[in-house]
Amino acid sequence: MASITMNNLVKKYDDGFPAVNDVSIDIADGEFLILVGPSGCGKSTLLRMVVGLEDITSGDLLIDGNRVNEKEPRQRNLSMVFQNYALYPFLTVYENIAFPLRLAKGKFSDDEIDKKVRNAAELLDLNDHLERKPGNLSGGQRQRVAMGRAIVRDADAFLFDEPLSNLDAKLRGQMRTEIAQLQRRLGITSLYVTHDQTEAMTLGDRVAVLKKGRLQQIASPRELYEQP
Ligand code: ADP
Ligand code: ADP
Repeated sequence: MASITMNNLVKKYDDGFPAVNDVSIDIADGEFLILVGPSGCGKSTLLRMVVGLEDITSGDLLIDGNRVNEKEPRQRNLSMVFQNYALYPFLTVYENIAFPLRLAKGKFSDDEIDKKVRNAAELLDLNDHLERKPGNLSGGQRQRVAMGRAIVRDADAFLFDEPLSNLDAKLRGQMRTEIAQLQRRLGITSLYVTHDQTEAMTLGDRVAVLKKGRLQQIASPRELYEQP
């Protein structure tokens, strides 16, 4: 696990307009930070800068105190959890979770892979479903498989890009509870992007509000809620 430090981050696309404008945020080791704001305020851009899918125009990005501006995504050791799960329909739950370890060819023995997959499945309460295919799982279970794949990589932090936005209201509520519980159990550093007010108020330790590329406010949900 690790801290994530954003120092005066700026992103200008080709048109020169800053999509992210002088944003500084410190995410402590183990902290769950929510990033909210209206559509077009720069949430996805900032997330993509952190994971390394978008160049940083200026400012510094540090993971555990080390500057990573120029590092490839794979060297940053962060795990993205997407809204569409991105599971392989023809692989079992076990093989879906094992996938990133098998990709790192030769790095892990079958025994090591087995241990890591079963540990993750235990944490996520997926042990009874390891031989099933994603198509036979509920939406919530699929989301947990996606998280299992993030966990086995021993990532330093999780990045969530509106992971619940495609779910219906009932499932969204259920997943919200599951993610909150999992975060408490794992205590893993997380940056969670959403435009959902309820998620912002219930999931995070702190909420950062972006507006037109700028950090407008950063506070605990309670502090934000109690403001006039
Ligand atoms: P959000 O995720 O909050 O909806 P984005 O980060 O997607 O916001 O977008 C922030 C701003 O940057 C918007 O004005 C958007 O039009 C612009 N933008 C996003 N991606 C690109 C791109 N690839 N090229 C040019 N402008 C972009
Ligand atoms: P590859 O074929 O190497 O997987 P990608 O373009 O999918 O190519 O990914 C390049 C790198 O980006 C990966 O090696 C990984 O480090 C990072 N990456 C891709 N997907 C994720 C993810 N879900 N979470 C974190 N990092 C990812």
